[in-house]
Amino acid sequence: MYRTHTCGELRLSDAGKTVTLSGWVQRVRNLGGMTFIDLRDRYGITQLVVNNEDDNALSRQVKELGREYVVQVTGKVTGRSSKNTKIPTGEIEIILESCKVLNSADLPPFTIEDETDGGEELRMKYRYLDLRRNPARKALELRHKMALEVRKYLSDQNFIEIETPMLMKSTPEGARDFVVPSRLNPGQFYALPQSPQVFKQLLMVAGYDRYFQIVKCFRDEDFRADRQPEFTQIDCEMSFVNQEDILKTFEGLTKHLFKSVKNIDITGDFPRMPYADAMKYYGTDKPDIRFGMRFVDITEVASGKGFKVFDDAAYIGAICAGNCAKYSRKELDQLTDFVKRPQIGAKGLVYVKYNEDGTFKTSVDKFFGEDDFKQWCEMCNARPGDLLLILAGNKDKTLKALGELRLEMGNRLGLREKNKFAPLWVVDFPLLEWDDDTQRYYAMHHPFTSPKEEDIELLDSDPGVVRANAYDLVINGVEIGGGSIRIHNDVLQQKMFKVLGFTEEEAENQFGFLMNAFKYGAPPHGGVAFGFDRWVSLFAGMDSIREVIAFPKNNAGRDIMNDAPSPISKKQLDELMIELKGEAKKNVL
Ligand code: ASP
Repeated sequence: MYRTHTCGELRLSDAGKTVTLSGWVQRVRNLGGMTFIDLRDRYGITQLVVNNEDDNALSRQVKELGREYVVQVTGKVTGRSSKNTKIPTGEIEIILESCKVLNSADLPPFTIEDETDGGEELRMKYRYLDLRRNPARKALELRHKMALEVRKYLSDQNFIEIETPMLMKSTPEGARDFVVPSRLNPGQFYALPQSPQVFKQLLMVAGYDRYFQIVKCFRDEDFRADRQPEFTQIDCEMSFVNQEDILKTFEGLTKHLFKSVKNIDITGDFPRMPYADAMKYYGTDKPDIRFGMRFVDITEVASGKGFKVFDDAAYIGAICAGNCAKYSRKELDQLTDFVKRPQIGAKGLVYVKYNEDGTFKTSVDKFFGEDDFKQWCEMCNARPGDLLLILAGNKDKTLKALGELRLEMGNRLGLREKNKFAPLWVVDFPLLEWDDDTQRYYAMHHPFTSPKEEDIELLDSDPGVVRANAYDLVINGVEIGGGSIRIHNDVLQQKMFKVLGFTEEEAENQFGFLMNAFKYGAPPHGGVAFGFDRWVSLFAGMDSIREVIAFPKNNAGRDIMNDAPSPISKKQLDELMIELKGEAKKNVL
């Protein structure tokens, strides 16, 4: 045994014991007569002390210790005269009797402290050092605890965890697949699962009526902020359930996680919001409902008055920012710049200050009068002292831009507190979305999602308006998960593939096995999957999912620690009978 105790364990009640600890040297402080060493492991920090006059050999030895050396020390636990109330071991220290260096260490490229001087690139390159820091360790501990509580809760509800294959058939619908060449089947490829969707449905056919899995998923998407090519889902499926049963079950899981992990009681049912309302009032399918500031559509009353920007607009929307009539020119300019950023794309911003004295100051005085401003303010429930912010233009784009502006105002006004949590189910998603470029419908969720029964007949006449039995769990404006009731009938499933533009042959080739399975007694079923990384980062109060993944990829999908992806050798390629083309050719080892 290298140790009798951990570095986080000893208390005043242990005084007098001779103990052996092992760990990393956090820091050495030489204060003339005494040398203090902070010894660290996963469990905490313990102070070691050497009296330089008493024992010169030992004091000479510890002076040589560098940061992050791995040492084994033996000594006696004693009470400290100056106690450190910030750490659990702060009442004791260890009078060192011996110290053995188990391994020396190069100077780390950044400080292993809570507030480090290392930027993200550097920390990720040396992630194993970064993981020694408390915030990283706490994030992984939180992740572990959440995984444990998920398993506990779902097991108690009769769910069983079943593993599904990582090497599967490529079914390119949704994101792009990562593919893996098969050496034994030259020219043939596996795909890594974008999610275990078809397998979990097959498990329902097999009778495993409550399945879950904490599982890696892979999507070869273009890089967007805070996306990882591989990520973890809590994947679930149930049989003999309707949408209500699923929402209730996973509301239970959500409440359990809040209680057991964060000690937060979420009482009452989660609000439900139809997708159409989410778009209309918040301009997004994942509204942050920690605060109001809902959109008010003033198109009817504000257009046709000679202001070209409004007259040409399909939609004019306003939000009311409480107590912001006092905003300065500079603050309004900043907001205008904000909405004009290319990612947001608005052409400009109209404001109406409803001053405390009841007068108005606006950017459109030339075109409108007091009666107009009064009417808009009334529609927005604005009070003197408030500020209306108005965007106009193409409907979809303007709703989206107004949604971004609303979030920005929420940030500026401190309405998005990290410690307040507002869960919400967004329901009644459209089944399909039209893509202008390819001139076809795509499944908004995935092709196995069931249309609402009352809308099925519209599949032929007006597919775009068909609503799905699909739902998302949103917390604080973050999409935590989503799912749907599935089609469990091969005829309807075939029809869905047809609407999605698959030929019969393509559908058969890609999903024949599923439709075949449906012929052998498929129960009604549905499910959901939660983005585990995102949920952990929400609970951790961290902005990026990278911080809660032990070894994440960077924003360009690279593992900068071990430098992947990377070329492979000619021999490996030959075995796979793969020849590289064009640009890729220079990448052979
Ligand atoms: N497989 C879906 C997804 O990954 C979730 C579900 O429908 O259960 O988004």
